[in-house]
Formats: sequence, C-alpha cells, structure tokens
Amino acid sequence: MSRPTHIYIDLSRLRNNFLVARRLHGARLLAVIKANAYGHGAVSCAHALSSVADGFAVATVEEGIELRQAGVTLPVVVLEGVFSASEFDSVVKHQLTPVLHQEWQVQALLKQGGHYGAGFWIKLDSGMHRLGFSPQDLPRIVHMLQTGSRHRPLTVMTHFAHADSGRKEAVESALALFCKATAGLAVETSLANSAAILGYPEARGDWGRPGLMLYGHDPAGSVLSPREGLQPVMSLRSQIFGERWVPPGDTVGYGGLFVAQRPSRIGIIPCGYADGYPRTAPQGTPVWVAGHRVPLVGRVSMDMLTVDLTDVPQVTVGAQAELWGDHVPVSDLASRCGTIAYELLCHVKRAPFQYFFGDSVASC
Ligand SMILES: *Cc1c(COP(=O)(O)O)cnc(C)c1O
Repeated sequence: MSRPTHIYIDLSRLRNNFLVARRLHGARLLAVIKANAYGHGAVSCAHALSSVADGFAVATVEEGIELRQAGVTLPVVVLEGVFSASEFDSVVKHQLTPVLHQEWQVQALLKQGGHYGAGFWIKLDSGMHRLGFSPQDLPRIVHMLQTGSRHRPLTVMTHFAHADSGRKEAVESALALFCKATAGLAVETSLANSAAILGYPEARGDWGRPGLMLYGHDPAGSVLSPREGLQPVMSLRSQIFGERWVPPGDTVGYGGLFVAQRPSRIGIIPCGYADGYPRTAPQGTPVWVAGHRVPLVGRVSMDMLTVDLTDVPQVTVGAQAELWGDHVPVSDLASRCGTIAYELLCHVKRAPFQYFFGDSVASC
C-alpha cells in the first residue's frame, strides 16, 4: 500500500455551491479559480463548472493559459492583470480578459493595437487602496478604451475591503462610491465576492465573483457553513499507521511539547506540514479518527503528526483519519492556527488528489 494521505475533492459539491451563489447573486457569475482553485485543482474545477459558470477568474496570465491549454473556452478574467506590456501578446493569443488597474497598461495596449476580442475589465479603487483607478480618473480611462475603432466590451469592477469584516458602513460607502463613479458610463459592472454575495444583497452587478464559497466555506470564518447549503469540497484524509504506549513523564515528538500525564496511547498519522497541515496547530486541535474527535498532541512535523488515542481503545492502526473536511471544519482549524480557511486550502501539496462526483468514490 502507498502512503494513505489524500486530498479528496467532491466536484458535485463544487457545482452545488456554485448554484447557491447563482441563486443568491443572479446575473452572470465568474467562478474564481485563482491559485489552483484555492488548492482544489484549477483545471478539474473549471471542467466541473463549465456547464454552469459564465466564465472564470484567475490571478495571473499563466493561470489563464493553463485553462486555455486544458480546453476551457469560457471567458477567463485575469484579476491581477499584466506585469509588462509584452504580456498583452499572451492575452491576445489566448483570448484572456485582463483587469486594467494602472494607466501604463491602458497606454501600452492602445499603442499595441492587438485584437482584444475578450474585452477588458477596469478596476476601480473603492477603498481597498491596493490596485485600481480613482473615481476621478475612471471616466477618462473608459473613454480612452471606448474610442478605439474595435469593439471592446468593458466591465468596471471593484473589490470590497470590508465585506467579510462586518463593517457594514464601509461596504455601503464603497458601494455608493462605485455607483456614483459608474453612473452614465456604458459599461457592465462587477462588485461581489463571496462575502458580498452572502451578506450584501444590495451589492450586485452584471457579474458576481464568488471564490471561497464555491469551495464550501464562509469567508467570515463562521465554523461550518450550513449557511445557504454550502458544503465543503475538500477533505484532507489519512490513516493511523502506527501506535505506541508512552509512559507518564515521557514526551512525544520534536521539542517534547507533549508530556504524557498518564500511560498514553499515541497514534501516528502520515500527514505533516509538507502536505499543508499547519505546523502552528496547537495541542488539542481536533482530528477526526474513525468517528471520534481525538486531540493532536506534540509538534506537527514535516511528514507526520501524532494524536492521543488513549480514550478511544477501539481505534487501531488502519483507522481512517480526517485532518479537515466535514467533521473538522477547515475554518475552525484555521482559527486555532491564527489564519483563515483560504490559506490552509491553497497550501495543500504533495498528497495526491482524488476527485469524485457525489458518491462515485467511497467516502471516509
Ligand atoms: C479572490 C478574489 C475574489 C474572490 O474572493 P472570495 O472572497 O474568495 O469570494 C473576487 N474578486 C477579486 C478581485 C479577487 O481577487
């Protein structure tokens, strides 16, 4: 048997979560599959969503090319845009839709004059203050792009800084700023990420951009999101592959972080931080083993971690373990580790992926 650690991806849940986003947002939706679909595998996710999504969003031109080479024909918006004028050649060749957020980009592409059949998105800075044009500059930029001879569909987008932080008034003022800046422009609009789709029904436009919710999680970090019927798409699973008794006073793992207070039966799971399980997980973090929540003990190491099985004598070598998934919500694990579900999901690596659709592969 090979190492029993796998990343399970349920593509039927991905589709269902997408349909939840569609129901809440209406209009058209770009499925955000940047960063390898938040760790879930961009190409597999794109294929699973291609009959329901209106397009995809990625961060970089390279991510867009990967989708095109895998046969994806729907619109692909490149959220971080191009880093040099020469990247516009790839944009044209692969019919990608770049987000423009700096004036040099607009000047470079007008000078180049290629055929941008997939159009452009223009980013408006509504308070995040990272990328994007100011409301004062927006009409001029739109005008520059619309006065070219070729048809260039234009969408103006913005990205909320506070949609997941509960600062309602900050979202409302960003929304008001966006509406004012785009009033009277002949453009399509795009506003809502997952947090806005879930929490701000007033923030709508021609295109929604759900990311995290597609993977079954609430960006606000609320643990387990039965919210609106979202279900986690990914689970990280392994097995107990060794066990030993440790006498009171002895320690387990690097640095002796765990000191046995009683004769303790320690189970070893072949999953560590090189697989993406966070090294910062504190003592007592729950791991689901054959129907029981058992505590993590000792330091998470590169290739394995240890749990205390003393209270579950029926659990032995070979028992199935879930590091995160339906029983251990990744948002819960993330908050114990001082981070967010986004970071844990996009850090999975090394362990092989197993894709399935509903019940077509036995579950844990
Ligand atoms: C990542 C991203 C999204 C998706 O955000 P979620 O919080 O995952 O829904 C939407 N829009 C932009 C511009 C992004 O960068």
